[in-house]
Amino acid sequence: MIDKRKFYINGQWVEPVEANDLHVIDPATEEHCAVISIGDQADTDAAVAAARAAFPAWADTPLEERVALVKKLREIYVARRADMAEAMRAEMGAPLDLASNNQWGAGVWHLDGFLEALESFEFEYAMGEDRMRKEPIGVCGMITPWNWPMNQVFLKAIPALLVGCTMVLKPSEIAPLSSIVFAEMMDEAGFPAGVFNMVNGDGVGVGSQLSAHPDVDMISFTGSTRAGIAISKAAADTLKRVSLELGGKGANVIFADADEKAVKRGVIHCMQNSGQSCNAPTRMMVESSFYAAAVDQAKAAAEAVQVGPTTEAGRHIGPVVSELQFNKIQSLIETGIKEGATLVAGGLGRPERVNKGYYVRPTVFADVTPEMTIYREEIFGPVLAMSSFDSEAQAVQMANDTVYGLTNYIQTQDDDKRLRVARQLRSGMVETNGVGRVNGSPFGGYGQSGNGREGGGWGLEEFCETKAISGVPMG
Ligand code: NAD
Repeated sequence: MIDKRKFYINGQWVEPVEANDLHVIDPATEEHCAVISIGDQADTDAAVAAARAAFPAWADTPLEERVALVKKLREIYVARRADMAEAMRAEMGAPLDLASNNQWGAGVWHLDGFLEALESFEFEYAMGEDRMRKEPIGVCGMITPWNWPMNQVFLKAIPALLVGCTMVLKPSEIAPLSSIVFAEMMDEAGFPAGVFNMVNGDGVGVGSQLSAHPDVDMISFTGSTRAGIAISKAAADTLKRVSLELGGKGANVIFADADEKAVKRGVIHCMQNSGQSCNAPTRMMVESSFYAAAVDQAKAAAEAVQVGPTTEAGRHIGPVVSELQFNKIQSLIETGIKEGATLVAGGLGRPERVNKGYYVRPTVFADVTPEMTIYREEIFGPVLAMSSFDSEAQAVQMANDTVYGLTNYIQTQDDDKRLRVARQLRSGMVETNGVGRVNGSPFGGYGQSGNGREGGGWGLEEFCETKAISGVPMG
């Protein structure tokens, strides 16, 4: 059993003030794979105090020195790729290929995007006779989820480090191992003591304590809308900045003139990471003249998605993260059947020949209507809901008929229609024809998908205050 009970505070690995063990469960085996500690107020206070003490000197450190340390971290992250991938495999069930490519790679990708954005980021610039300054906001609490662990940590820690903030990271208690490896890397890179701190804990404990802490200037959160609301309320008394990246129920609007791979691509994207992505295209909306053929294609695509062990090489999907998520997904599949959606692939229970691990069958429902639960609720598993539309206006109306607004998708070979529809969709991101967004493009949502924008220049900006100075014009 791997013992990871210590926290990283003020440049040291320290015991929790009071012991409170939690076992980390490998979702592929349902067995304990490590033990961590759940922190409490005294641990939170120690980490915040270290970050507060380190802030003035770190904010004053020349930018080149901060950049050099971030580049050193990048080298270590590259050198320890296998350790990081193994941690994510064990804690959240990403098969090794996914863990060491997409999951690990997201970290490097974001880090590079921030360094590139920094080249044109103006910390000080003139506005008429005034001088505008971007200054680090201060001590940041970072609360992250389990589904893309390093993606989230890099989206928060790297921009905060680059602009001169200090921080306390509280990773998900379900998937804390990768953040512990990350803290080891921060230590090895040689960041000054207190700049980066990491305390493990749960939402009601360390998560809420950071949110309410008078010495924390900002909370950067990624996770469920439920927790985002709780954090906003806890942070309200101290009026700290709260940046939220929350859930989604993305529409994938497929017109009859879409390219021939559009349906298959949509199914694979929905199932990737076992369906545990906030930006997954989970509602597939297809123009009625193409609908029957699209349902057949989706069935074939879902049946071709392989589910398999996390330790085996290959592009198969692994289990979902926990028994809780497994049961929630099963219950939503059951609700889909009861409410009258047509089950065309997958369904209840584990895939054939699997009797252990939180594995879910790649599932497709057709004839899903807006009043059904599976049309509205984020399932966070490999479950696709298909509906049909008769007109462009109806497609837009259906896509926007959600409390969320993270990423929507459009598939059509008509350039004018693609842009026209994209402009009408109420979401922070619209991806069309399978083209991914460029590095540095802002990630974030409308409505109950949150209020933040992460990545590139937008991400740097999030961790800054703006100061306007008069009477000292720039030369
Ligand atoms: P979660 O909200 O339960 O947990 C996320 C983190 O918040 C964990 O670290 C948890 O300990 C902490 N937390 C929980 N309750 C808290 C509270 N009251 N106060 C402070 N912290 C609290 O979510 P999850 O189950 O880990 O992740 C899945 C959810 O996250 C999904 O809904 C998904 O869509 C969303 N998500 C969104 C994005 C995005 O960028 N928009 C990215 C990943 C995941």
